[in-house]
Amino acid sequence: MDNTNSTELFNKAKDIIPGGVNSPVRAFKSVGLTPLFVKKARGSRITDVDGNVFIDYVGSWGPMILGHAREEVVKAVKKAAEYGTSYGAPTEKEIELAQLICDAVPSVEMVRMVSSGTEAVMSAIRLARGFTGRDKILKFEGCYHGHSDGLLVKAGSGALTTGVPDSAGVPADYARNTLTVAYNDLNELEQIFINSGNELAAVIVEPVAGNMGVVPPNVGFLKLMRELTRKYGVILIFDEVITGFRVSYGGAQGYYNIEPDLTVFGKIIGGGMPVGAYGGRKEIMGMISPSGPVYQAGTLSGNPVAMAAGIATLKILKSNNGIYEDIAAKAQLLEKAYVGTGKKYGIALSVNRVGSLLSAFFTEKPVTDYKSAVKADTKRFAAYFTGMLERGIYMAPSQFEAIFVSNAHSTEDIEITAQCLDSVFQALSCER
Ligand SMILES: *Cc1c(COP(=O)(O)O)cnc(C)c1O
Repeated sequence: MDNTNSTELFNKAKDIIPGGVNSPVRAFKSVGLTPLFVKKARGSRITDVDGNVFIDYVGSWGPMILGHAREEVVKAVKKAAEYGTSYGAPTEKEIELAQLICDAVPSVEMVRMVSSGTEAVMSAIRLARGFTGRDKILKFEGCYHGHSDGLLVKAGSGALTTGVPDSAGVPADYARNTLTVAYNDLNELEQIFINSGNELAAVIVEPVAGNMGVVPPNVGFLKLMRELTRKYGVILIFDEVITGFRVSYGGAQGYYNIEPDLTVFGKIIGGGMPVGAYGGRKEIMGMISPSGPVYQAGTLSGNPVAMAAGIATLKILKSNNGIYEDIAAKAQLLEKAYVGTGKKYGIALSVNRVGSLLSAFFTEKPVTDYKSAVKADTKRFAAYFTGMLERGIYMAPSQFEAIFVSNAHSTEDIEITAQCLDSVFQALSCER
């Protein structure tokens, strides 16, 4: 594979952009390669600056559920841009997208638009603190909620202790207000509520974890979380930045039939433009400025071009409910290919899937939380990733990310991917 142009651009970029990228995982560091610079994408295919074409399973890390450059979305964006790209004043489009979200997700009665998932999470946490008058929050190990200070926190030494910063620059004082327990661990969850339930403003969770690879929730885990948050007057926040409009049109809360107090969105609701949103019951959302005392604002919030892309995307998803069955069926074909090919070549593999989200971990034990996820063989992942890329399959360059199947992936795309997988796993089995 010729990657002369990508390599040249990466070298230029490294000089003026930290690490050569504007978001760390793009740098291909964990697989030891040079990132591909993208020229264009359409449907399921992405083309790099050297003219290599790949079947893309990154989908911009989630937003592109309809595939790239979907005609209706591009048209809507063009039309909106011709009317001006930003006004800093309200538009009808904001109501339209808010209505689509509220109609799809019954627990959301009011919604506030922002410009990224990080911003939405940060604002939802401030709102939960303003509403409850409490400071502490609880998160789960391996869940990602964007890069705001209070959430770049990992568990301290010993379970059930207060958090410590997971990045330079995060004050230890912030981290002290973030508690962390293991995902899917009902005992730890119950224990932390007994210890600190009355001090918690919020519990935030990815209802399907997608940032340690895909890890489905034990349904009892989400139910217990709902019960305990009600009992102790704690706001339950579902971070549906990946799962919203992905695992079903009503998100993970519709899929598992559990209603949180607040929900955070991003990715799909912007149709590939920078959008985030948070919403919930009126009594809570009414606390946000200018109606209430919790301050939150944004120059580009509800941007008309971004709203147009989101509206076009959600309208297609709404009027074609078969899309969810279709992408889940294709992801299931892919899942079968991983499981079958792993068995065929004796490659230890643990595959998790929820709808169109899946991950194949290079470990034989089931992956149910962060500790079991990090047992995966990342060296083997890097070899597999490289092999797939050389054969024209573009996956996320990390073991701990999801494979995103879109409505633009054809059955033939999946078959081609399965053939590449066979060839890559065969090569891996020879190396041992
Ligand atoms: C991507 C993501 C975020 C952060 O969204 P950005 O738009 O990247 O700031 C937050 N939560 C989850 C679950 C995510 O996957």
